[in-house]
Order: sequence, then C-alpha cells, then structure tokens
Amino acid sequence: MEFELSAGEFELSAGALQVIEALEEAGYEAWVVGGWVRDALRGLPGHDVDVTTDAPWRESARILRAAGCEVLETGVAHGTITALAVGEPIEVTTYRVEGTYSDHRHPDEVRFVSDVREDLARRDLTINAMAWHPVRGLLDPFGGHEDLSRGVIRAVGDPWRRFEEDVLRILRAVRFSLRLGFVIEKNTQEALVGRVDGLKHVASERIGKEIDAIVRMGKAGRALLDQPEVMCAIIPELAVARGFNQHSVYHVYDVYEHIAHVCCAVQAFTAGMATPALQWAAFLHDVAKPATYSEDVEGHGHFFGHPIEGARMAESIMRRLAIPSDVTSAACALIRWHDERMPATLASVRKMLERLSSVCPGRETQLCFELFNLRRADAVSKCDSAASWASALDDYSALLRAEVARGPVFSVRQLAIHGGDVIRKCGVVPGPAVGMQLEMALRAVMADELPNERAVLLEWLRA
Ligand code: ATP
Ligand code: MG
Repeated sequence: MEFELSAGEFELSAGALQVIEALEEAGYEAWVVGGWVRDALRGLPGHDVDVTTDAPWRESARILRAAGCEVLETGVAHGTITALAVGEPIEVTTYRVEGTYSDHRHPDEVRFVSDVREDLARRDLTINAMAWHPVRGLLDPFGGHEDLSRGVIRAVGDPWRRFEEDVLRILRAVRFSLRLGFVIEKNTQEALVGRVDGLKHVASERIGKEIDAIVRMGKAGRALLDQPEVMCAIIPELAVARGFNQHSVYHVYDVYEHIAHVCCAVQAFTAGMATPALQWAAFLHDVAKPATYSEDVEGHGHFFGHPIEGARMAESIMRRLAIPSDVTSAACALIRWHDERMPATLASVRKMLERLSSVCPGRETQLCFELFNLRRADAVSKCDSAASWASALDDYSALLRAEVARGPVFSVRQLAIHGGDVIRKCGVVPGPAVGMQLEMALRAVMADELPNERAVLLEWLRA
C-alpha cells in the first residue's frame, strides 16, 4: 500500500509511514496517536511519532523486522516496542486499556483490545486522545480538535474517575495547560482540585519530573497563582507560605504570592532564558520564611536566617523530587546568598564569586549573574519603593562584567604572582609561609587595595 499525502495534510516522516504501511500490509490496522497528532494540528512538526495498532507486540516486532527495521523490546509488558525505521525511533504499542489502579499509580494490569477507540478512551486529555492516519484522516471521538482550537484542557471521560485511576494526570493536565496557555475546563478543574490528596500516594520522583518540567518552562509562577491547591499538595512546605502575612512595609504580598511574582519576574529579567537553577531558586528562595518568622516589639516581621534555612529546605525538597544534583547545588547557592548584604564594590563582587565558587566550582561567574537577576526579581516583587533596588543591581552587573573582562580574582591561583615569586622576593623557605603570603596578597587584591598586576605585586612582596 502506498500512501499519498494530499496538499494541506500533515507530513508524516518516512519512518512512520514505513511502519504503518508494513503493519497494514500484514492485515493489521495502525494509527499515529497522542502528542504527534496534537502538535501537527497546531502546525508544529517534529514531535516523536507514537503508533498504535491492533497487532500484538510480537506480531508487530516480527512484521517490522521483516520490513528491515531494527526492533527494540522497550516496554513489552504493556505492549510497546520501538522500531528504528529509516533511522527514526517509532514507538509501536498494541491497542490497550488499563485495568484497575488499586494503588492510584500503576494499573494492576493492561488489557489488549481490538478497537482503537477503546485505546483512545484510556488516554488522559481530549487533546491527547486523537489518532491520525494518512488515508483515513483524523479520528477524534472526544472532541480533542475542538478543544485544541478553543484552547481547552479537558479530561477524557469522567474527570473524577480518571484522576482517581491515575493521580499523576492532575499534574499532566496542569502542565499541558501551562505549556499551551490553555484553560482547564470547569469540571476537569474541579475534579483536579478535589483529587489533590491522592498526590500523596504518587512516587516523589514522578512528581519531580512533572514539576521540574513546569519550572523549566518558566511557568512556576503561573502554576503557583493558578493552581495553589495542586502546588501546595506536591510541595507541602509551600502550604504554610500561603496567606502568610509578612508584617512588613516592604512587602505588599504574602510569602506565597511574593514567591510567585519572583518566579514570573526572573523570566522577565532574563527574557525567558532563566536557567533551571535560577528558576528553581526563585521558586524556593523564601520557602523558609514561615519557619524563621519573628516579630519585633513594634510588630514588624523579620525572617532572620531564612536564606540559610531556605537553602537547606530547598536541598531536601529537590533531593526528594530527584531534581538533577547540579541544578540543586546551584539553586541552593543562589538561595543561600539571595538576601546577602552587598555594597556595590568590586571587593564585595569578588567575595561573592569566592563564595559561589566554594560550593559550585567553575560556575561562579554564571551564578553571580544569576544571583543578580534573582535579586532584581526579588526587589520588584516586594513593594513600589523597593522596586528601585532592582536598578541598583545594574551597578553590580557592571562590576561583575568588568571583573570578568579583567579575569576574576578570588583565589590565589588567579594572582599574577605565584609561590616561586614569594620564595625569591621574600626569602622565605618553601612551606606554609608561602601560602600565607599569597593569601595576604589575595586579600589585598580582593579588597581592591592592590591591582592584580605582576609588577605591582612583586614590588609589594619586596616591601
Ligand atoms: P510530549 O510532547 O510532552 O511528549 P505527549 O502527548 O507525547 O507529549 P507523553 O507523556 O509522551 O505525552 O505520552 C504520550 C501519550 O500517552 C499522551 O499523548 C497520552 O495520550 C498518553 N498518556 C501519557 N500519560 C498518560 C497517563 N498518565 N494517563 C493517560 N494517558 C496518558
Ligand atoms: Mg511524548
């Protein structure tokens, strides 16, 4: 069978066409499903192709091998193989439905079925429950195309039942709504909030994958504002921040709303290019505020030590969610120093580079720029009078840029002199005295009392 794609149709990759053709020539039925169909209808090419078929997986494997594809048995327990067709990996899954979910996480069994509609019915959202075939066209039993064009996220079937079967679908619905900028249909939204308690039963690393995706998309702030019940269910440490009055003239928002605004502001200050570490730092930077709250005699709120405690809490939250450790260490460093008093001097910029280097060696320069963006975002999310602090951060960035251009100095290795110079110029014997002398030179350079210039430093040694 040859498929002709008429003009205006979606262009399916050669590999996917080969897979569908081979299965159908052998007498089975096959469709493209899920994300590829959704994205093709939105005019976005290039999504991984998932094929669904009535062929049992062993049959699919046999047919596709005979057609010259390499076949990997990637998930045969639930009927999935991966065929490498024209160099492209195509997932091929047998039509299936899922059995009961007694643990609310994994179906107790999968049952293979013969009707593609049954397979579509087990999928999470209407926009993800469409199938497409190059000749038969779109199969859309749940109105996914209309929801897609109207910008609506809707569960397939009864949302209360669907979220009970698999609670993770709550986070998928939220993630897709944020990713696409879609509204969640009323019943789906009600069911989603009504079922959040079930998220307690979901493995933390599965939650971590979803929340990490939301944070990396730059949507943590939107998620906090739009879906507080969901966000507080997955990160209970944030629940106490919700409605937590800061009793401060510098804050118009409660702790939770402040955090949300900072998440949005780091995106604004980085033109949407904030790194995962910066986004995670914004998301958790004030997580320890409720725990460190105190009030003075005038009734003003204080949060002494919240950056240190916040970094500690963030590390434990991010570890629990299995966030990559390089992201965690960088985010915790940013949280640790987000509120540090810093005069706008070269010395204090160097001191900050030294601190960042001590916890994230080699990443201090990048992190220091990110720290300034976090502080900018923090400033504009407090009150009108604090917002002007954000522009002061321009001075810090200028100092840092100049320092980077010159070659930053915050470690003895970066000095323009070395141990041999100390031995020669000061007449000391090799040993700890050499290191001490270099350390003194470093302190003087970092404090901007001496330039990091070889001639000047040699002269200083001689004196
Ligand atoms: P992405 O672009 O993020 O990969 P996708 O639609 O391909 O989007 P996947 O997570 O790769 O999403 O899942 C593929 C398809 O499997 C989905 O489109 C959906 O039909 C179905 N699906 C995935 N997870 C679930 C779930 N937990 N419950 C029901 N159906 C699901
Ligand atoms: Mg996918």
